[in-house]
Amino acid sequence: MLLLNEIKIPIDADENDLKKIIEKKLKAPVRNYTIRKKSLDARKEPHYVCSVLVDVDHEDRYVRKGYQKYIPEDLDPPCFDTDETCVIIGYGPSGLFSAYRLHSVGYKVIVFEKGKRIEERVRDVECFFKTGKLDSASNVQFGEGGAGTFSDAKLTTRIKDRYIDYILDLFIRFGASDRIRYENHAHIGTDEIRKIISKITDHLISEGVEFHFSEPVIDLLMNDVHEAIGVKTAKGAYPADHILLGVGHSAQDTYEMLRKRNVTMEKKDIALGFRVEHPQSFIDERQTNAIVKEANEYFLRYKGEKGVYSFCMCPGGIVIPAMSDENSIVTNGMSYAARDSGFANSAILIQIFKEEFDDGLEYLRSIERKAYDYSHSYQALAQNIKDFMNHELHPLIFASTYPLGTVLYDFNRFFQEKDLEILKEAFCDFDRKIPGFIEKGIIVGPETRSSSPIRISRDENCQSVNTKNLYPMGEGAGYGGGIMSCALDGIRIANAILWKHEKIQSDR
Ligand SMILES: Cc1cc2nc3c(=O)[nH]c(=O)nc-3n(C[C@H](O)[C@H](O)[C@H](O)COP(=O)(O)OP(=O)(O)OC[C@H]3O[C@@H](n4cnc5c(N)ncnc54)[C@H](O)[C@@H]3O)c2cc1C
Repeated sequence: MLLLNEIKIPIDADENDLKKIIEKKLKAPVRNYTIRKKSLDARKEPHYVCSVLVDVDHEDRYVRKGYQKYIPEDLDPPCFDTDETCVIIGYGPSGLFSAYRLHSVGYKVIVFEKGKRIEERVRDVECFFKTGKLDSASNVQFGEGGAGTFSDAKLTTRIKDRYIDYILDLFIRFGASDRIRYENHAHIGTDEIRKIISKITDHLISEGVEFHFSEPVIDLLMNDVHEAIGVKTAKGAYPADHILLGVGHSAQDTYEMLRKRNVTMEKKDIALGFRVEHPQSFIDERQTNAIVKEANEYFLRYKGEKGVYSFCMCPGGIVIPAMSDENSIVTNGMSYAARDSGFANSAILIQIFKEEFDDGLEYLRSIERKAYDYSHSYQALAQNIKDFMNHELHPLIFASTYPLGTVLYDFNRFFQEKDLEILKEAFCDFDRKIPGFIEKGIIVGPETRSSSPIRISRDENCQSVNTKNLYPMGEGAGYGGGIMSCALDGIRIANAILWKHEKIQSDR
């Protein structure tokens, strides 16, 4: 395979055109090609710039002419004989990728997941969206695939890491389009990611990984020197050599248990706010430089005394109830692969520094409960953005996509005076960037679970600083935010266990 960089193609070029451009460059027919990267150059005459892998006859001739031969990096670890057991608590992206990698080298892997498999989980979530009957163990946060299963499944991350291709390759192997490898802001959509995760789980089960769904871990087994030596569930005790903890940021009961077990944790800054919704056509009209005409995104950032920013934008998506606890309200966003709801939503969040609260988990839960107490139901709180700016309350300019309905609420009551001021400055700034942003939009909230308020401290070997054999990972432990970064953290933990094994072997 040859790697050809800097291939320029017109905006409207199709697969055949690209093939012709490559053949013209090489002056020879190509057998096959795959796009590795594709980015938009919007200067002057907009066009795409691609990196392509090309399968061509007489490859060496081209290498002699200075073309680059592509040698894929082998990121699969070598297999070895081991009788050690890894227990994985939580099957979100961090749990899934650590399970996959540890199993592939030969560890016995046992996964405990509080929630259900996707098919049953989808039924529970759809029932909740229709009837308001919440199952606190099977919902948008809990179950096979973790929080990302009901999402836009955007695969964006600012992290540069060699394992990103490893993650994307696995998604592609189990059914994702290979567009996710090269598209900027690639997304899969909730309908597709569900199928892909289900297939990965089936594959792991067929390979001998042991799964315990609907069986939450309720305690750690510890020895006299504060080392974790296994886990306990309602069904029994399971000894293990390595315990990977990837329970997400909504596992309040697990954090209580860790506190009782004196596992070292620290406070972390958070962000909170609400979703804003606009007609998608309005967002599309305003993105005058955009090449695509539909489902446009925006990224907004305001740097005042505190940061205010848009987060997790879902073009053509819906706002969803994302609570896992009864009598609370939490919003988030989700979309299907087609992104065709007709509405755009994104979270608008303001930073809250750790010095501003005592117990972050309790702080967020109290806000979620306060919202429920006001609504007296799972209907979200909502207000026109214009009314929020003017401290007024009028009927919404359009109905929110939030499936359980909304209750009018003045979000001026929701924030501290100083934060309100900063938020309103931010909205004025966003309105300058996207004229009409205030006039044409509504607020739906509250949005409280964009990140974890705690970090479970790890040492240089990725183990808890005071509880040996316990490996905190992913978003809930404070080491990721989003599908890709949490998947990467799961791989990081798996690698830490492999290196420990290699070190023990070489020390012997
Ligand atoms: C609605 C929504 C939309 C999102 N959209 C996107 C997006 O488009 N792109 C993106 O990158 N990110 C998105 N995110 C964020 C992303 O999903 C998370 O960052 C990511 O899933 C976190 O991964 P994780 O492995 O740390 O934990 P999680 O995915 O939270 O998984 C933790 C798992 O642990 C289980 N668990 C909890 N306690 C226990 C216990 N005691 N025993 C056993 N199991 C337990 C839970 O049931 C859960 O399944 C979204 C999140 C939500 C809620």
